[in-house]
Amino acid sequence: METYGIDIWGENNFIIENGLVKVNHASKPALINLVKEIREQDYKGPLLLRFPHLTQLQIDKLFNLYENAIKEYNYQGKFNAVFPLKVNQLPNFLHPLIESGKKYNYGLEAGSKAELFIAMTYNKTAPITVNGFKDKEMIHLGFIAKKMGHNITLIIEGLNELEIILEVARETKLVCPNIGLRVRLFNQGGGVWAKSGGIDSKFGLSSTEILEAYEMLKKNKLSGYLTMIHFHIGSSMTNIKPLKKALKESGHIYAELKNLGAKNLKAINIGGGLAVEYSQFKKSINYSMQEFANDVIFTLKNIAKQKNVDEPDIFTESGRFIAANSTVLITPVLELFSAEYEANNLRLKEINPPLIEELNSLYNDINSKMALEYMHDSIDHLESLLKLFDLGYIDLQDRSNAEILTHLIIKKAISFLEIDDFEEIKRIDNKIQEKYLLNFSIFQSLPDFWGIAQEFPVMPITHLNRKPTRSASLWDITCDSDGEIPFNPKKPLYLHDVNLEKEEYYLAFFLVGAYQDILGMKHNLFSHPTEINIVFEDGNMKLEKICESQKIIDILEDIDYDTDEIRNILYANVDKETYEILDKYLNDNNYLKTTWS
Ligand SMILES: *Cc1c(COP(=O)(O)O)cnc(C)c1O
Repeated sequence: METYGIDIWGENNFIIENGLVKVNHASKPALINLVKEIREQDYKGPLLLRFPHLTQLQIDKLFNLYENAIKEYNYQGKFNAVFPLKVNQLPNFLHPLIESGKKYNYGLEAGSKAELFIAMTYNKTAPITVNGFKDKEMIHLGFIAKKMGHNITLIIEGLNELEIILEVARETKLVCPNIGLRVRLFNQGGGVWAKSGGIDSKFGLSSTEILEAYEMLKKNKLSGYLTMIHFHIGSSMTNIKPLKKALKESGHIYAELKNLGAKNLKAINIGGGLAVEYSQFKKSINYSMQEFANDVIFTLKNIAKQKNVDEPDIFTESGRFIAANSTVLITPVLELFSAEYEANNLRLKEINPPLIEELNSLYNDINSKMALEYMHDSIDHLESLLKLFDLGYIDLQDRSNAEILTHLIIKKAISFLEIDDFEEIKRIDNKIQEKYLLNFSIFQSLPDFWGIAQEFPVMPITHLNRKPTRSASLWDITCDSDGEIPFNPKKPLYLHDVNLEKEEYYLAFFLVGAYQDILGMKHNLFSHPTEINIVFEDGNMKLEKICESQKIIDILEDIDYDTDEIRNILYANVDKETYEILDKYLNDNNYLKTTWS
């Protein structure tokens, strides 16, 4: 049976049982049952399901990995982690995360003033780190956070930020927060996001600037506030080698600064980058998570020993690893494009062009032995007939018959081949794909697919006891040709041949909890899907924090239309019935509604 690589990317969080995808937790509900329950409350269109228990699981994993490694190597430094807010700032994701992290004193990382406000509001005692480019206001805000009792570290990206820190300290007389130095490493990360590291990186201080920064701090009697060295070599490192190099480089910078007299320097912040396995076909990550933690501890221990300094505390800011698996996007399939190619739509004539007669007999005579050959022949015939149409030799009715017959032959052939010779079919997948129209927007819900061709595991949530026979390309409902996930023969997606008039068919995209929510854009004014937290408590399942997809009128307000004006103009000269319809539609969301989708 086709399992869509769930054993590669699924981490046992989701399982297939009796043809259904189920949540592998508590009562093990099938995703289709969750979907039905939610839709019974009249929430239709695409759904975003969040599973806070999976966020909890990832936090537990992260802290356990390092606890194991610290024990194994008898490491003297402490382990700390912060969640980088840019990965997912939405309250329905974040509140459960903060709750889950309390027992570990799990903190937050902020990269902008808005994120810092979130951290200052919802983080009581856990550490806050601040990265990114900062102005005087943001640095001042850091001082205020410190005054309010937060355990905050401002990590500077350049000497100018340090100068502002000195300025704010002088002007406000407030106590200085902890200071970290982001170091610009020679050793770059791998992967699509590698621009964060390396000698020509946008971020961090060169070795000359590090020395200068230390001297500036010393001269201003603030060197006691230097507590942290930071690096972040890039997101989703699938290869561990760059990390090892970066650890060595930053470990030595830490030790050198200690030996220069930075007595309160006590931590190395290794940034994020723990990878998530998105592949449905072949593992892409070349290390285990425990190996990653062991390498961190082992490398830093050795450097501390070599340079005779205290073993540093460790901070990590991994976000993708914490957030990705918590969220599943469910999209109803609205249409299979070839659905109109039905035998009862044929308009055969008394006398048909010879190639059509030929197609007709292929269709009537096809059997399992000749399936592949007939399918090839039919595709050739169709190509010839389309040429004839362009030259004006056959009419529209003939062309329609040719298209229908060819699709019928392909379908029949596939159903024969399903039994015997499924492998063969892969060779000609490109020509016989089915297009599946999904009720969602790629721009809103999978922006990283659009922007950087990031793959996300996708599979149907039902029908898994049946062999999928259609090579599929997926189309969203935006009017944009980029709103397509094309069929890729190297990583083929097969879906079921379903009759949507008789049965429902949903696809789920997994691992969409990191970055997608906030990067999503309102192309064609499609807003976020309806979101729901699925919470398990004492074996009981609850649907919480339902956040419905935005109403059209609210979307228009968001982009600064005067909604009173819109109503006034629309309603000015209409009868009551029309008014009521307009008003209903304006107050509904923008996704498509068919009888069931
Ligand atoms: C983006 C970012 C992270 C998070 O990276 P992940 O790959 O999601 O773990 C951590 N630290 C900094 C400084 C970042 O910019």
